[in-house]
Amino acid sequence: MSKLQSQVISFMQLFNQKIEPVPTIPEAGVVRLRVMLVVEEALELLEACFGQVPEKLLIEELVRNTMNAREPKVDLAAVADALGDLDYVSEGARLAFGIEGESVADAIHASNLEKVGGKVLEGGKVGKPKQWTPPDIEGILFKQNSGELPTVQSKMLHYLEPCPQCQKPVGWETVTIDTVDVSTEFCSEACAQAFIREAKAEGGEQAN
Ligand SMILES: [Zn+2]
Repeated sequence: MSKLQSQVISFMQLFNQKIEPVPTIPEAGVVRLRVMLVVEEALELLEACFGQVPEKLLIEELVRNTMNAREPKVDLAAVADALGDLDYVSEGARLAFGIEGESVADAIHASNLEKVGGKVLEGGKVGKPKQWTPPDIEGILFKQNSGELPTVQSKMLHYLEPCPQCQKPVGWETVTIDTVDVSTEFCSEACAQAFIREAKAEGGEQAN
């Protein structure tokens, strides 16, 4: 499970939003809410790049009315495809802007958890309570620029670090083991196990 997935699961469980265990068509209200949340974020991206767009509210209303005027006719495979593409283009946009997403997601998650006590708005969206503070995204980008937080670059360089066992790049799916006083990352479970076996054999020889 990815870290983001576990963060969203905690959020949804906290706010009693139903999580389906296998591909399922949820009730109409949930379908409308999920589409609306994606559209709202797409329009926020538009404003983030072009400043205030007065048509934003109109577009949102148009989408809302379009959905309210009909019953959902969900094609689950098409939903999975569209959401997969959204993940893909979101990551692409982050990379195009040089934004490392993990620390941003951590901050958004922390402030989302502060929405406990907030009203559930019409349509099921979780509202912001009075004492709610928005995540300090500017501060995070500042820290990414000053090297206090991981960056796209540091993550890409990490990808190229050699596996201590086979010397190939560790890649993205690393296996971490705690050796004497450091934790070491390997490209695979096989390399980690081989490293441990050889370290033990060497230790045994030295003892003799
Ligand atoms: Zn390896």
